[in-house]
Formats: sequence, C-alpha cells, structure tokens
Amino acid sequence: MTKQSKTINKQKLVTVVTANYVDMLLPELLEKSLEAYLKKDFSKRHFQVSVFENTHSTAGIVLTVLAMEAYRNRIYYLENKALSKKGLAEDLGEVFKIKDKSFPANLLKEILTEVEIVRDVIVHNHLYEVEIVNDGNWDMISHRQKLLKDYGDSKRLRSGLVTEQTRQTKNLKLSVQPAKIGFEDLFTILVVFDMFVGMSDKHFPNSYVPFRFTHKFNGDWITRLSHYLSYFYANNLNKVRMKKLREIYKKLRTAFISFIPDNVDYFLRNVCPKCQDFGFHQPQKIYKCSNCVFEIKVNSGYVKK
Ligand SMILES: [Zn+2]
Repeated sequence: MTKQSKTINKQKLVTVVTANYVDMLLPELLEKSLEAYLKKDFSKRHFQVSVFENTHSTAGIVLTVLAMEAYRNRIYYLENKALSKKGLAEDLGEVFKIKDKSFPANLLKEILTEVEIVRDVIVHNHLYEVEIVNDGNWDMISHRQKLLKDYGDSKRLRSGLVTEQTRQTKNLKLSVQPAKIGFEDLFTILVVFDMFVGMSDKHFPNSYVPFRFTHKFNGDWITRLSHYLSYFYANNLNKVRMKKLREIYKKLRTAFISFIPDNVDYFLRNVCPKCQDFGFHQPQKIYKCSNCVFEIKVNSGYVKK
C-alpha cells in the first residue's frame, strides 16, 4: 500500500466583521427610513424627525461608520502601516495622500470628521433641552435648543465644522441634533461610503476593500450600490430638499471625481449626460434624469423629451 502524503494548506485571512454591515443590513434601514421620510409634511417646521425615521437612520449611520473603520483597518494592515489613533478622518486622509500627492486630503479629513461627529452625537446620546412655542392648533411657531452641559463633544467644538445656528455640519450639512438625524443624513453618509469604496478601488488592489453589494429590490437584483442610491435620489419627491442635496454632492464630485474610477459604478460619476444631475443609471435598466427628464431607452436608442 502506497503511503499517501498529506499536504496541509495554510491560508492567511484578514477578516473584519463589521465590513459586511453596509451590504447586509443597510438596505432595510434605508428603505424603512425613507418610508417615514416620505410621509413627512415638509411645509411644517420640525425640531425632530419621526422616531421611526430617526431610529433606522441613526442605526444605519453607526453601522456605515463601523464598516468604514473596518476597511480602514484592512488597508492599514495590508499596507503595513500603524494606525494614527487619531481616528478615521486622519487615517484615510493620510493614506490616500501617500498614494497621490494631489489628493485633497484636508477636505476628506473635514468630511470624515463631520461623519464622525454625527456618529458620536448618536452613540454618546447627547442631550438637548428643547423649548417649543406652539400656536392654538399645536403647530410649532418656533423652538430653541440648548445642548446640556457635559454632553458636548470636544472634537466637535474644536473642529469648527459645525454651524451652531443651523446645527448642521459645514460641508455635508449633516444634522448634529440627535432627534433630527434622518433619511437625508443617512443617504449622504452612504454617498460618502460609496465614494470611499471608489477611491480605494482606484488607489489600492481590489482585495483591500472587497466591498460587494447584492440586493433584491423591486423584483430585480442590484449589484452596485451606486444604482441603488440613485433610485432613492431620483425618487426624492421633495424638490427643495433635493436641490440642497445636489449642491452637497456637486462639491464632492468636483473635489474627488479624478480620484474614483472612470465609470458609473460610483454615485458621484453616475450623472445625467445632459445636465450632470445625479442618479441617472437606476435599477431595472432605467437611465433617466429626475432633473431634466432626459432618458436613454436601453433597447430603442436615445429618446429626448
Ligand atoms: Zn439631466
């Protein structure tokens, strides 16, 4: 009887548990958050969003930031670099700058600091005192808010990235009043996440940030986060809010476009060929602009409206 030699294969894997949060958990949180968002009466002033919208959005934000931190750890491990211990913003700003000297590291640091501020506001349970003035019909006329002493965040105060009057961050216009954090904040942070994946794809081997997105939506399988996000962008029926979001994403596009791959697989590149508004390529082979209604019918060529 011949002796069989046993070969033992050793494989080294670098796993980061939280990296899968966006792929597996975010769609449900985003869809539920949108459900409540669309029922809102935008003609009225609100000092908070509904508990339903708030809960799903804030959970989504925390998980998205955890996923980004997991990928940051992976990049640093594979690049043989030590983490700075200063946080996500500092680490990612630095690592992209090393790859490309022209990379706008300071702007990325600002943006990611804003994301971290919002995450901290959520997980540290900041308390606000809110004074509301109602009219006879219980419609709100005005409200004043005060962050309670000892609940402030030193990072936030030092950064100069929060406009106190609007209680929003400077670049991304994210709400820092915990009860007001809603669908739009989560959506914007997912746009930033998608941009981060794109930048990683361009500057590092694919294996560094192996983000895959697969989600069944309206009976169709979607494989790109960009197309999924585009659906929500194109179907946000509130035109005033949309304009504000568009301005934020335009600035991101201008600053970071050359640092993400050259295709529509990323939200910031996925724009209308005519007016450059976002959300052009949507699920179910829809190529339609929600701004100028320019459309490309996949099987029948170009259709101008
Ligand atoms: Zn257009």
